[in-house]
Amino acid sequence: MFATLSDRLADTFKSLKGKGRLSDADIDATAREIRIALLEADVALPVVKEFVGAVKERARGEEVSGALNPAQQVIKIVNEELVSILGGETRRLRYAKSGPTVILLAGLQGAGKTTLAAKLALWLKDQDKSPMLVACDLQRPNAVNQLQVNGERVGVPVFAPEPGNGVGDPVGVARASIEEARRRLHDVVIVDTAGRLGVDAELMRQASDIRDAVQPDEVLFVVDAMIGQDAVSTALAFQEGVGYDGVVLTKLDGDARGGAALSVASVTGKPVMFASAGEKMTDFDLFHPDRMASRILD
Ligand code: GDP
Repeated sequence: MFATLSDRLADTFKSLKGKGRLSDADIDATAREIRIALLEADVALPVVKEFVGAVKERARGEEVSGALNPAQQVIKIVNEELVSILGGETRRLRYAKSGPTVILLAGLQGAGKTTLAAKLALWLKDQDKSPMLVACDLQRPNAVNQLQVNGERVGVPVFAPEPGNGVGDPVGVARASIEEARRRLHDVVIVDTAGRLGVDAELMRQASDIRDAVQPDEVLFVVDAMIGQDAVSTALAFQEGVGYDGVVLTKLDGDARGGAALSVASVTGKPVMFASAGEKMTDFDLFHPDRMASRILD
């Protein structure tokens, strides 16, 4: 997804190679190139401004280090600033101290929530957890069935609406699922909620009602990295409407420019916690800002 950005940055650094010392003009020219590379990759403007400002300031003030030549020094600064806009440290899941850990997924329809729910369940199983999936997306006719199919693929039970489980009432289903998880000794409950094609008040209200009913330990906002600048506006809308603790980027395997997705952590102040990059159930892992930065600068 970040091939073009990688290439553009590599070209920028190439022009610094062999320089003994960087003049202010060199630094300005490099900063301009980095700015263009980030904007072309779709990184949000405020993030670009902050990023380029920080790189420039640090490049000017940098002590001349014996170990690194000027080009390497700039790469090091860019790397550190990339890690910083991507959220800094890897943020791990927080598990409940007692009772099942409840993870609530929110996001637009088509963001990849249902797929991600199953991927996360499989990942948790690999961490020796006993997860249960909960189908609270009762808007899309096929969503419950899709979660059941995905649940079967990863061998994780799905709690779905049926008489007694609050048919047609996502809040009721969510509430009942926590009781069921306790009874069946599941230690993590993953609640899939309904999405819409666009942000709307009812969607937000429903997600908030479910949140209030199940008191999740983690609310994760799921966003399709391929939707470009809309990723940032959607992330802000969900932050205001529902609130969340972390972000999950999906479809990182796509060939879109991806920079908007890279801006979400910086714009919302919420860390990207997981990255999902493909149709396979194992194409999923914790998001490591430092590894992502290295990949971009590779
Ligand atoms: P939901 O509406 O948010 O529940 O989204 P779905 O889980 O149904 O996903 C929407 C579409 O995106 C489906 O066709 C998925 O197979 C596809 N999808 C989900 N995650 C990924 C991913 O990481 N990479 C790719 N290429 N496709 C994905």
